[in-house]
Amino acid sequence: MSLSPRQFIKKWRFSLGAKFTLLVSGVLLVTMGGTAILNYQSQNRLFLEHLQSKGIMLGEVLAEISPEAILSYDFITLNEYVQDVSRQKDVVYAVYISPQNKPLNSYIDKDNPYISKAISELNTFNPTKIIKHVNTDPRIMVLEFPILFNKQHLGDVVIGMDRTRIESLSRHELLKQMLGNGFIILFLSICIYVVFRYNTLQPIHALIHGSERVAKGELEEKVLIESNDEIGSLAQSFNEMMGKLKKSTSEKDQALAQLKILNKTLESRVEKRTHELEILNRELEHQALHDSLTDLPNRALVQDRVQQAIIRAARNKKMFAVIMLDLDRFKEINDTLGHDVGDQLLKEVGQRLRSVVREVDTVGRIGGDEYFLILPGADRHAALQVANKILNVLEPSFLFEEISFSVSASMGIALYPDHGKDTATLFKRADVAMYAAKQNKSGYFVYSSEEDSHSPDHLALIGELRNAIEHDELQLFYQPIINQFTGRIFGVEALSRWPHPQNGLIEPSVFIPPLEQTSLIKAFTYWVLKTAFRQWSEWHNAGITVNITINLSMRNLHDPQLTTHIRELLDEWNVDEGCILLEITESDVMHDPPGVMNILNQLETMGLQLAIDDFGTGYSSLSYLKKLPVHIIKIDKSFVVDMDRDRDNSVIVHSTIDLAHNLGLKVIAEGIENQEVMHQLKALNCDFAQGYYLCKPLAADKIVEFIKCNRATFTVVSS
Ligand code: C2E
Ligand code: CA
Ligand code: CA
Repeated sequence: MSLSPRQFIKKWRFSLGAKFTLLVSGVLLVTMGGTAILNYQSQNRLFLEHLQSKGIMLGEVLAEISPEAILSYDFITLNEYVQDVSRQKDVVYAVYISPQNKPLNSYIDKDNPYISKAISELNTFNPTKIIKHVNTDPRIMVLEFPILFNKQHLGDVVIGMDRTRIESLSRHELLKQMLGNGFIILFLSICIYVVFRYNTLQPIHALIHGSERVAKGELEEKVLIESNDEIGSLAQSFNEMMGKLKKSTSEKDQALAQLKILNKTLESRVEKRTHELEILNRELEHQALHDSLTDLPNRALVQDRVQQAIIRAARNKKMFAVIMLDLDRFKEINDTLGHDVGDQLLKEVGQRLRSVVREVDTVGRIGGDEYFLILPGADRHAALQVANKILNVLEPSFLFEEISFSVSASMGIALYPDHGKDTATLFKRADVAMYAAKQNKSGYFVYSSEEDSHSPDHLALIGELRNAIEHDELQLFYQPIINQFTGRIFGVEALSRWPHPQNGLIEPSVFIPPLEQTSLIKAFTYWVLKTAFRQWSEWHNAGITVNITINLSMRNLHDPQLTTHIRELLDEWNVDEGCILLEITESDVMHDPPGVMNILNQLETMGLQLAIDDFGTGYSSLSYLKKLPVHIIKIDKSFVVDMDRDRDNSVIVHSTIDLAHNLGLKVIAEGIENQEVMHQLKALNCDFAQGYYLCKPLAADKIVEFIKCNRATFTVVSS
C-alpha cells in the first residue's frame, strides 16, 4: 500500500527510527551547540583582549613619543600622531587631554558608524562633544594613558576602541562553527539511522510481518534474521514458537476434522433418531387420540373436534349437527358369536359409517358400541339425511366367519346451537335423543326441548348428582321383605335416597328418571351395587345374613360391562351371590326381550337371583315370561295397595299369584299398607310380603334394630 507524503510523515513521526534518530540528533545538537557557544565566548574574550592590548600598545606608544611635541607645542606633529593612531583598525578616536582636563588635540574617525551616528544626532563636528557622546555606548572601549616627562604629568592620551568588528567576527566564527556542526549532526544522524534501520528496524519489521502472518494463520514462512544479538535470538524464539504453533495447529486441524466426521455421524444418527421419534410420537399421538380397534377418533379427539366445530361455527355464524349412535343388541352378538366377531363388526360398522359421510365429517368411536359423528355445516334436514343413509348402510347383513347377521342402530341427533352451545351439553342431548330413539325403536331421534327434561335446572341437577355419586353422598335405605309362611325376614330391598344439603332427603322418583336419561345411570348403579354389597358384607361379618334386592334400570341391561363389574364387586366384598336379588321392571324386560334375555341368562349363570318388578303393568306375554331365567315376580303395588277394597285388583293379584306359582316362580307382594291386605295375601298363598304395614324403608342402622327386635322370627330363607 503506497502512502502519501503526509501519511508517510505522520507514520514516520511515531516510528522507532524517528524516535531514535531524533534522540541522537538532539543529544548531538545539545553537545555540539554547547561546545560552539563555549568556543564563541572564549574566542570573543580573546579577541577583546587582543583589541585591548592593541589599544594599550598604541596608547603607550603615543604617550611615549608625545612629550617632545607637547613641550615644543608642535601641534602639527601631535595632530599627525592622533591621526595615525585613529586610522588604525577599530580605533574610533584618539585625543590629547591637558592636565587641566581640556582636550588639546583630537582626531575622530568619521567613517565609523558610531561617530557618524553621533554627528547626525548631535548635529555638530565638535570632537569633544562627539567623543563624550560616543563614550556612553558600551561597545566603545575607552583607554586612558598618562603622558609623563621626567615624572612631570603633561596630560593624557585617550583612545576609543570599537568592539563591533571584533564581536561580529566572533559571531561570524560562531555561525560557521554552527553550520559545520549542523552538517556533522545531519550526516551522523543519517548514518546512525541507516545503521539503526539496517540492524534493528528491519529485523523488527520482519518480526512484525511474521506475527501478522501468524495472526492470519500463515505458519509456513519463517522470519529470516541472521544476527547474533538479542533480536536474532528473539527471531529464533519466534520461529520456534511458530513451529510449535504449526504443529499444534495441524494437530488441532486433524482433531477438528475428526470431530467434524464424528459430528456428522452424530448428526445423522440424531436425525435418524429424531425421525424415528417423530414417527413414534405421531404414532403415540395417533394412538392416544384414536381407537385402536377401528382406528377412528376416540372420545378425547371427538370431544376436541366438537370443541373446534363450536369455535368455527360460532365464528362463521353457522350450525352443525352431531349424531350419537349405539348398536342395538351388540352385547348379545358379542357374547353369542364371540369377541372376534364383535370386533370385526365394530370395525365394519366404522367403515360403513365413514362411507356415507363427507371428508370433513368426523366419525369416532366413543365407547364399546357407541359411535359419534360430527357433521360441520349440517342443519336438521342434512342430519336426518345422514341418519337415513346410516340406517340404509347398516341394513345389509354382516358376514363374518360364514355367519350372517343383521344389526340395527339407534341414533340421537343434536344440533348446534339450537340444542347446546358447549361440548358437554351437545353430548348429553345427543345421548338423551339416542336413548329416546332406542326406546321408541325409531332408529334415530332428534333432540327436542319440549320432550326432554334437560332444562337448565335439570342439567344443574345432573351435575349435582354426578358430584353426589362421586363423593359418596347418596344413601341406601332398606325395606324388609317378610316370608309369609314363616313370618321371618326374607331380605331387604335397597332403595336409594339423596340427602340434599339444601332440599333435604330427596326421593328416588325425583332423581332416578333424569339419571336414566343419561349414561350417569351406570355410575349410579355401580354405586348402589357397591354400597349394598359392602353393607351385606358388614352385616354378614356382624352375624346377620340377609338377602338384598337391588333395582336395575333398563339402561344397565345395555351396559356390556355390567356383568364383569358385578363379578368384581362380589369378589371385592366377598358376597355370597345367592343372597343378591336383582329387580328388573316388567316394562324394561318387554322393551328389548332378546337383549334382556341374554343379560339375564348371564346374571343367572353367575348365581344371582332375578325378579320381575312392578309386575302387571308391562303386559308381558306368558310364553315369554316362561323363557326368562327369573325366580321371583313382584306384583306392582298399585294392585296390592287397595285389593281389600278394589275387587278387580284383588282378582288380578289372585290370578298373578296362581300364574307365577304355575310357572314355578315365587311372588312378592309390595305395597301392603294394612292387616286386611296382609291376611288376604296370606290366604292367596303369596310367598313374600313388603309394605309400610310391615316396615317402611329404613337406614342401615335402623334395619339392624328392626332385625334384632324380630330375632325370634328371623332367619335367612332362600327362595
Ligand atoms: P320400586 O322398585 O317399586 O320400589 C318400591 C317403592 O314402593 C319404594 O319407593 C317404596 O318405598 C315404596 N313402598 C314400599 N311399601 C309401600 C307401601 O306400603 N305403600 C306405598 N305406597 N309405597 C310403598 P321408593 O323408595 O320411593 O322408590 C321408588 C322407586 O324408585 C322404586 O320403585 C324404584 O323403581 C326406584 N328406585 C329406588 N331406588 C332405586 C335404585 O337404587 N335403583 C333403581 N334403578 N331404582 C330405584
Ligand atoms: Ca323394586
Ligand atoms: Ca316395584
